[in-house]
Amino acid sequence: MVEDDRAREDEWFRANEQQLLEQARVARAKREAERAGAEKAEELKRLRDLHFMKCPKCGHELKEEALEGVKLDRCTFCEGTFFDAGELDQLFLKREEERKGFFRRLVRL
Ligand SMILES: [Zn+2]
Repeated sequence: MVEDDRAREDEWFRANEQQLLEQARVARAKREAERAGAEKAEELKRLRDLHFMKCPKCGHELKEEALEGVKLDRCTFCEGTFFDAGELDQLFLKREEERKGFFRRLVRL
């Protein structure tokens, strides 16, 4: 019985976290659209061409990896690991045990 309550409680938090993350995603997309509207399209393209999938630390190529449904970008040189907006949020939705497994695989010992 206690476990049923616990499971229901977990589900309630999970559903509400999903809703909060969705609200955050929508707000983030709106802010980005506002910033994009303020910048000229050609400048946005120039910056994207210059930096897209380049490591912000060392400038080498980033390679996308999928780790348990979460995508991340790892530098092919310094092995720095980066998340796009919203990708880290997905980690917070994972249960504690899943998170531990995720981080163990993330560090690639
Ligand atoms: Zn790097």
